Amino acid sequence: ATTAETTALAPTADAPDPTFSGGSIELQGVRKTFGRNEVLNGVSFSVAAGEVVCVIGPSGSGKSTALRCINRLEEPTGGDIRLDGESTLSMSVDTLRQRVGMVFQQFNLFPHKTVVENMTLPLRKVAGLGKDEARTRAMAGLEQVGLAGKADYRPVRLSGGQQQRVAIARALAMQPEAMLFDEATSALDPELVKGVLRLMADLARRGMTMVVVTHEMGFARSVADRVIFMDRGVIVEQGRPEAIFDDPQSPRLQAFLAEVL
Ligand code: ADP
Ligand code: MG
Repeated sequence: ATTAETTALAPTADAPDPTFSGGSIELQGVRKTFGRNEVLNGVSFSVAAGEVVCVIGPSGSGKSTALRCINRLEEPTGGDIRLDGESTLSMSVDTLRQRVGMVFQQFNLFPHKTVVENMTLPLRKVAGLGKDEARTRAMAGLEQVGLAGKADYRPVRLSGGQQQRVAIARALAMQPEAMLFDEATSALDPELVKGVLRLMADLARRGMTMVVVTHEMGFARSVADRVIFMDRGVIVEQGRPEAIFDDPQSPRLQAFLAEVL
């Protein structure tokens, strides 16, 4: 079982180095159609506990839909998804979203609430914590991403990078077993990208199970245990980052890399 301490992120390299006890994720033949549009055409992959998988591929290939199926922001139209061996389709959505945190391109903070209120809201409503416990855990989470001083600010007063760090801290405060990132740095000004990527790399190093949809090929190469290349609703190729980036096999991956690298 995790404690508040084990999900904390140390702000400095010499601070204590807690680890996560991540859970595994397995997609088995996942399909998703919107009307006649087959967006996921039988997607299967597994992420071991503590493993980091990056998903790359052209726009419209189904990357976001695959992630959103994992925590049921979309309901798959076929196949199964397992979290630590248990089908997510038979869990309550609240339980599932506590166990699997998600971070979006747009930070999705409530603009009319303060930073700390953004943190405590799901802790109270979803995790069912009392007021004091929620506040204590929220402040601990903010401290760990270096933003305790902004607790009473509204999000608009923070930079995009700071807002995204709050969004990550908010997800971590639920003490999830896995984290999903959907282009978490794509909306940020270039100078703010690095801080968020560093935080994500930190999580990876501490053993969080992560599925990361990203355009940051440098991040995928240096942090991912495995890279999955999707195109048109299927996995075309997957492997170690060195294999994917230095020795791509399929013409589609070769063409994609030629465009983005
Ligand atoms: P990616 O994240 O790889 O860019 P998406 O998963 O967002 O791809 O989208 C894949 C396809 O699914 C696109 O053709 C998109 O238009 C379609 N799609 C995604 N979400 C919906 C939705 N809610 N309703 C209808 N079509 C959708
Ligand atoms: Mg997307």
